[in-house]
Amino acid sequence: MLRLKRGEERRLAAGHLWVFSNEVDTDSTPLGQFAPGAVAQLRSQRDAFLGYAYVNPHALICARILSRAAAHPVDAALIEHRLTAALALRERLGNARFCRWVFGESDLLPGLVLDRYGELVVGQIATAGMEALKEEIGSAVRKVVNPQALYWKNDSAARELEHLPQLATTAFGEIPAELEVQEAGLTFAAPLAAGQKTGWYYDQSGNRARLARYVAAGARVLDVCSYAGAWAITALRHGARAAHCVDSSQTALTFAQANAARNGTRVEPLHADAFDALKLLAARGAQFDLVVLDPPAFIKRKKDIPQGQAAYRKLNQLALAVLADEGLLVSCSCSYHLAAEELLSAIQAAARHAARFVQVLEAGGQSADHPVHPAIPETRYLKAFFCRVTRAVG
Ligand code: SAH
Repeated sequence: MLRLKRGEERRLAAGHLWVFSNEVDTDSTPLGQFAPGAVAQLRSQRDAFLGYAYVNPHALICARILSRAAAHPVDAALIEHRLTAALALRERLGNARFCRWVFGESDLLPGLVLDRYGELVVGQIATAGMEALKEEIGSAVRKVVNPQALYWKNDSAARELEHLPQLATTAFGEIPAELEVQEAGLTFAAPLAAGQKTGWYYDQSGNRARLARYVAAGARVLDVCSYAGAWAITALRHGARAAHCVDSSQTALTFAQANAARNGTRVEPLHADAFDALKLLAARGAQFDLVVLDPPAFIKRKKDIPQGQAAYRKLNQLALAVLADEGLLVSCSCSYHLAAEELLSAIQAAARHAARFVQVLEAGGQSADHPVHPAIPETRYLKAFFCRVTRAVG
């Protein structure tokens, strides 16, 4: 049993799932008694049952709730129930064979991500508690969707916070070198072991779908931080004429080119740092009608906020320099620590600096298969602003 200090159950009562180590009554229930990942009953100082949580005595977030029902302890049946419920939601959303199947806390499975790529499921575990449930998750995955293979891509740096090794392993089945994704009628390949995240950015699929109505016929496209080219190719398939893909990863660009060919089009790869590439293109006098900025998270920790804001402003400023009059800027940020208003401020500061007028046409977030848990702000991280940019100064 893990007992909280007086009043520390308030955030949990509001719906949150996390317990911080300073909230635990360590005199009566020392954290040291728990093995990393052990499941315990969580109780308030007044002995009210709060839920079943897994514990990691070495982590700042020392416990996360998995079940609030006394009758439903943490076992194989609970995991299977959660996976089934998460799948039912994705089935309602459509395209459940290619989607984020489980989005951690938002699907009441803290620390677990599962993405579906047809017959392949790729998982990522962020906590010792989920690591301890790996076998149960594997069995539940088999029971619920019975895919050909399950791959644990447990190579994220965040695992260090939980003292977990960074290691990818096969749970079962044959793991292909590449994965295949179907999105909005297009087919893409992406690297698996050498890929980013689980291999694909499903979180942007809703925003890419939004793009269709804004692509001007014959548009020249610049896809900055393109990864495997999903934005550029979507634009090309909706009437754009030509597209450049910029990425610092050669692997990503090789996939972008192959994906373009596969969808009957082509992209021009530019292997460079995003900032350098934008400067180079501006120096050449290049102009584009659509620029997509989808950089990696510039702000990983709170203390990086000031530098991060400056980086977003700079990137947007450089993008405006190559954006034609009446062009469209799609400016994204996946930094949880950068609020939507702050990204908007960065865009506007860039516009003032470049003497351009910006009109925000639409704001997008992460796709519906990455639901937001309203009590857990960290589950809401992606921002995408669709901006029309003119030369007239507003
Ligand atoms: N737009 C992609 C996702 C982009 S993820 C999609 O929708 O699928 C961020 C990408 O930025 C990665 O492919 C990564 O290789 C690349 N990247 C990271 N740092 C970069 C930098 N400094 N310059 C250019 N690309 C960078």
